[in-house]
Amino acid sequence: MTEKKIICFKCNKELVPKKTYFNYLEHSFFTDILSCPDCGEVFISEELVKGRISEVEMQLEDK
Ligand SMILES: [Zn+2]
Repeated sequence: MTEKKIICFKCNKELVPKKTYFNYLEHSFFTDILSCPDCGEVFISEELVKGRISEVEMQLEDK
């Protein structure tokens, strides 16, 4: 995994990964989302969400 540093533009602090709960299409999962330790602002890349969602969708199709 490549480490990409993302900085909170409000606090100027480095975002840290935090386990976050997602619910999509009646399926829920935890994933690490970068969030600001100060203000809690989260950074969700479309890539990340789409990646996880396609995993969930593949699991559905397998059944
Ligand atoms: Zn912040």
